[in-house]
Amino acid sequence: MVSLVEYSERKIREDIVNVMRNLYRRGLVSALSGNVSVRVPGTNYVWITPSGIFKGGLTVDDLVKIDLDGNVVEGFRRPSSEWRFHVVVYRVRPEINAVIHAHNPVTVAFSLSGLRLDESLLSEVMLFIKRIEYIPLVEPGTEALASLVAEKVSKGSNAIILERHGVIGLGRDLYEAEMIVESLEDLANVHLLSRLIRFLFSMP
Ligand code: 13P
Ligand code: ZN
Repeated sequence: MVSLVEYSERKIREDIVNVMRNLYRRGLVSALSGNVSVRVPGTNYVWITPSGIFKGGLTVDDLVKIDLDGNVVEGFRRPSSEWRFHVVVYRVRPEINAVIHAHNPVTVAFSLSGLRLDESLLSEVMLFIKRIEYIPLVEPGTEALASLVAEKVSKGSNAIILERHGVIGLGRDLYEAEMIVESLEDLANVHLLSRLIRFLFSMP
C-alpha cells in the first residue's frame, strides 16, 4: 500500500514535471536552461530538477531529493547547479514551498537595456507580484548568487530578475511560482508592445 507521504511526494514530482513542460512549451526554459524545486511540506527536504538533462522531457525518475545543505537523499541524477539559491529561499522564507528559475527571453532582453519593467501595466502583476527585485550578472550556480538572492527574498520579494540571465519566481505552491514567472514575461511583452505601438504611431 502507498503511504500518504509517498503519495504526496509522488504528486509533487508529477507537478514539477508538468510545470517544466509548460515552461518549455512557452519558451521560458530551453533544452538545458531553468530549474524547479518544491519543498516537501513541513520538512527540510526539497525535490529539484536535475542538472544538464533536457528540460522539456523530464520524468519523475529524473528528479532529485536534497536536504537544505544540498545533500542528495533520493534519486540518481545530479541536482540542478542552482540548488544553492533554491535552498537559501527555503531557509529564509518558511512560507515559500516552490521556487522556479526560468530564462524568460523578453524579460532578459529588457534587463540588457537597463530599463525597469513598469509593474503598474498589468493588473495580475499588481495583484500577485510583491516588488520586482534586480540582481546584476553574477556567475550562475555560485554561493555569491545565492547570497544576493537571500538578501532580496528576505525583503519579501517573490519575483527576481537576474540581469543578463533569467528570473526567479517564488510561490506558496508550485502553480503560484509558475504564475509569477509567466506574469513577468507577460509584463515584459506588454511593456515592449506598448512602447512599440507608441513609437510606430508617433505617440508621446
Ligand atoms: P541546471 O541544468 O544545472 O539546472 O542549470 C540551468 C540553469 O539555468 C543555470 O542557471
Ligand atoms: Zn539559468
